[in-house]
Amino acid sequence: MTDLYAVIGNPITHTKSPLIHKGFAEACGQDIDYRAIEGPLGGFADAAEAFRRAAGRGLNVTVPFKLDAFAYATELSEQARLAGAVNALKFDGPRILGQNFDGIGLVRDIVHNQRFAMQGRRVLLLGAGGAARGALLPFLQQQPLHLHLVNRTVSKAQALHEQLKSYAAGGFSFGSYADLANGCQPFDVVVNATSASLRGELPPVPASVFAAGGLAYELVYGKGLTPFLHLANGAAAGQLADGVGMLVEQAAEAFEWWRGVRPDSAVMIERLTVPLA
Ligand code: NAP
Repeated sequence: MTDLYAVIGNPITHTKSPLIHKGFAEACGQDIDYRAIEGPLGGFADAAEAFRRAAGRGLNVTVPFKLDAFAYATELSEQARLAGAVNALKFDGPRILGQNFDGIGLVRDIVHNQRFAMQGRRVLLLGAGGAARGALLPFLQQQPLHLHLVNRTVSKAQALHEQLKSYAAGGFSFGSYADLANGCQPFDVVVNATSASLRGELPPVPASVFAAGGLAYELVYGKGLTPFLHLANGAAAGQLADGVGMLVEQAAEAFEWWRGVRPDSAVMIERLTVPLA
């Protein structure tokens, strides 16, 4: 029997998840159907429950429902609990398992695909929204020399720092954009996990944050040289990446979690990559 999966979000027209998961299933010989569901705002739990009762096996969850999915799950992974958000659900009889693969997918893209080790490196993470929250534990698990978290609303960065500081093996700090502008040691990896690029904006980060030969990573994908990547390109950063690899890697994690088979992410990343310049 064909197993049923879907991605749920609002809006959902732009989603690449059906293409990715159908591609994975075809390549892995898995008999699945994968749909896109536009969940009504304020009505996530009812929509997810209707899907589950219709024999749905699992859901990918995207904006704006990751917090609703967190509340809806009956069991949470440690990663989901610390991220405070769920981006994948698995239905197992009465159990509703919640996971968050965003940060794991991001680290996998940086370390395996970009071939940029984070261990022993200085890492700067910009943003303290859902994506940054999901990235913090996987980042700390890479044992960077130092992880510095910066957010426009500094209190959010402070709260995340407080929540996760016990997981840090090396240095872990937080601060403001003004602190960065006042001078800091450059960072080997600078990750833009703000949503500024969606509006063509640049988080107020100085060019001096990019270490020579370092990696500048933009979570937004398919938008070419965003203002952040443009700044990095003109500064010392040696390597630029957008979030297409993260998107595919988090999907691969969910697929493996659901089906027990690891799909080849490289083929799909190549298929979806839009040149940066
Ligand atoms: P979110 O929860 O809405 O958080 C947005 C973050 O951006 C907040 O920290 C916010 O700061 C900051 N911000 C917004 N505009 C800014 C500006 N002009 N200057 C400085 N900071 C600014 O969003 P999210 O879910 O974390 O997503 C963040 C980005 O990651 C989005 O662009 C999303 O598309 C992308 N994303 C990509 C993937 C992928 O697979 N590639 C997965 C998830 C997310 P304040 O707290 O001060 O408001």
